[in-house]
Amino acid sequence: MAKRDYYDILGVERNAADADIKKAYRKMALKYHPDKNPDDHTAEDKFKEAAEAYEVLSDQEKRRRYDQYGHAGMGGANGGGFSGGMSMEDIFSQFGDIFGGAFGGFGASQAGQRRRQSNRGTNLRVKVRLTLEEIATGVEKKIKLKKYVPCQDCRGNGAAHGNAYQTCSMCRGSGHVTRVTSTFLGQMQTTSTCPQCGGEGQMITEKCSTCAGHGVVQGEEVVSIRVPAGVAEGMQLSLNGKGNAAARGGIPGDLIVVIEEEPHAEFERDGNHLHYDLYLNIADAAMGTTVDIPTLEGKAKVKIAPGTQGGRILRLKGKGLTSVEGYGQGDLLVTVNVWTPRNLTSEEKEILEKLRTSENFNPQPGGRDKSFFSRMREFFQ
Ligand SMILES: [Zn+2]
Ligand SMILES: [Zn+2]
Repeated sequence: MAKRDYYDILGVERNAADADIKKAYRKMALKYHPDKNPDDHTAEDKFKEAAEAYEVLSDQEKRRRYDQYGHAGMGGANGGGFSGGMSMEDIFSQFGDIFGGAFGGFGASQAGQRRRQSNRGTNLRVKVRLTLEEIATGVEKKIKLKKYVPCQDCRGNGAAHGNAYQTCSMCRGSGHVTRVTSTFLGQMQTTSTCPQCGGEGQMITEKCSTCAGHGVVQGEEVVSIRVPAGVAEGMQLSLNGKGNAAARGGIPGDLIVVIEEEPHAEFERDGNHLHYDLYLNIADAAMGTTVDIPTLEGKAKVKIAPGTQGGRILRLKGKGLTSVEGYGQGDLLVTVNVWTPRNLTSEEKEILEKLRTSENFNPQPGGRDKSFFSRMREFFQ
């Protein structure tokens, strides 16, 4: 199913202020809250959808990227960084920000009890340097990462041999303690993290000596990263769960891949368009010729018409880059430069001397020979 536009989901304009986005989300969250719509999956989906939209639009950097690249810009490597959706716990952790302290444990009765509160591994950032050729087609990169991985000796739980722990006596293993409070939405169960075990639900009686009870050790992993075609310098892809392992069996962090673009020897990139400078000698420009123009897919033969002026821009349609969103294709824009000889033999001077006063060598710019700036305008309007 195609993803809906985040602005449409929240029902705000594309230029909406942060405060309006917050207000719109607050309204949606209250309306579709699972506690108010028990067992209503449509409401739950809408609730999650709104949370995801808010997650992006409330973050300046993410919003900018979304405005520029749409859903594809939100981390294409996994087919959209949010493809797995946000968990209820992620959503409720947003709430402190939106609803203030009043709703600290709001809804935890739905989300929290099934799962113990867990530690979360930290995100890792890596840079991936790509050539324009790789960007044109998209590419798969294998990267060896130094990162925290689960400890083998305790299977990641931090207890000696993986079994020197017991269930927490205060929360009986749930990791939460629950109490009932009154809020303006009525009676509500609020659940908070168990103070005795810190939400882990169990207490280690003897620590694993390999990892000192952390459940993680320094290790390595080779991660395969699929970079979609059309990415640009500075774009970020996020791979869910490929970051550092979390202490004692929590949720691993994400791997953030930052794209770097290698400068190309022949092309200058401009969005999805490429620029190439072609140099012609005076004879070829005057009498016409056929030239080989490099493209990202090999050489293209291009006819140069007799009388081609320097500064003319030839457009090779579709020979640029595919847009990262998957539709739209840039062009290769070839700027013609007519080369004026810097050194001349006496024989060449003699020939040119004869041509100097020739009628046809007298510049006669007409309507077709627009200035450089109006030509550029034409291409980029
Ligand atoms: Zn406990
Ligand atoms: Zn261990």
